[in-house]
Amino acid sequence: MRCPFCGNIDTQVKDSRPAEDHVSIRRRRFCPACGGRFTTYERVQLRDLVVVKSSGKREDFDRSKMERSIRIAMQKRPIEPERIDQMISGIVRRLESMGETDIPSKVIGEIVMETLARIDTVGYVRFASVYKNFQEAGDFDRFVAELRPKVREDE
Ligand SMILES: [Zn+2]
Repeated sequence: MRCPFCGNIDTQVKDSRPAEDHVSIRRRRFCPACGGRFTTYERVQLRDLVVVKSSGKREDFDRSKMERSIRIAMQKRPIEPERIDQMISGIVRRLESMGETDIPSKVIGEIVMETLARIDTVGYVRFASVYKNFQEAGDFDRFVAELRPKVREDE
């Protein structure tokens, strides 16, 4: 596995253990060239998913890309990292079980938002503001205003 810091290919596994209730294996890796430490996850992939963007461009579904945007949205939120891992695995399983290999990026964004909305309103609003590409403060205010009645319904 290539070191994400210096590009060295010869990195070492320091520790391997099951994570997320044995759905994945978590490996702590060490790069002897730069001293960098990083983590990789090994998982069963049921099928290869392809994301179809609104432009029509296709690219392989990249779990880590989705994970990054979710983790950014959930930064400093009082949600256990394991809970977030489980949530991400749940989203991927949902995508894999849709029966289609090609999935519009819009569908993925909506599933992520739907899931976040159930777990953490702040994370949901943060993710949506990036996903919906809010251009100005007014966009954000409108979105939050629409959100309020929905939150009240759930109470
Ligand atoms: Zn390195």
